[in-house]
Amino acid sequence: MYAEATGLGDQISSKKYYTERLNLTIGPFRPMISPMKKALFPGSFDPPTNGHLNIISRAIDIFDEIHVVIAVNPHKSYSFSAEERHQMMEELCEPYENVSVHLWDKLIVDFAEKMGAKVLLRGVRALADFNYEFELSMLNRGLNSHIETLFMPTDPKYFVLRSSQIQELVRLGGDITTMVPEGIIERVTERFSRAPG
Ligand code: ADP
Repeated sequence: MYAEATGLGDQISSKKYYTERLNLTIGPFRPMISPMKKALFPGSFDPPTNGHLNIISRAIDIFDEIHVVIAVNPHKSYSFSAEERHQMMEELCEPYENVSVHLWDKLIVDFAEKMGAKVLLRGVRALADFNYEFELSMLNRGLNSHIETLFMPTDPKYFVLRSSQIQELVRLGGDITTMVPEGIIERVTERFSRAPG
């Protein structure tokens, strides 16, 4: 149609000609391809819960790649070692093609820079989470203003779910089957049944 309107016939089929014309009229020609969108999903995952997996499974519809980043902080005590958390998350994320799992013991914005990711994804449950998450996002922005934090509200099913509550539930004999992914229930129950109360 363009060729007919301009009477340029075969010329229009030349990509070079078309690109040059475009550059003249609307500036440098950029192909309409969006850059790969990578998001980091950082956290302790101590242990992983269905709330974490819910955020990941929703985020893969939005981003091309999700990188789960397991925090390793030598000054913090965890119920599961870094390797155990890594192993569990790897197993749980295996069905997702574009999700990979990493361990990291430095600033998360440094990991984002290293990976060429611009987004830190955080799940938020209640408003109380938001206060903390908001401050954390300000801190990270102060450290590196090129990295954006995006918040994803929890699914109502996981509104009250926290990794830290699972230990107490197991100790009291509560049912954790709706909270913890099936593949790791045994490990979690075993670990917390033995843990001192
Ligand atoms: P927590 O011990 O609070 O579960 P993590 O550090 O393991 O915390 O959490 C990693 C990320 O997952 C955080 O952004 C956290 O807000 C989010 N998250 C944790 N549990 C849920 C949940 N039930 N629903 C939505 N997001 C969650």
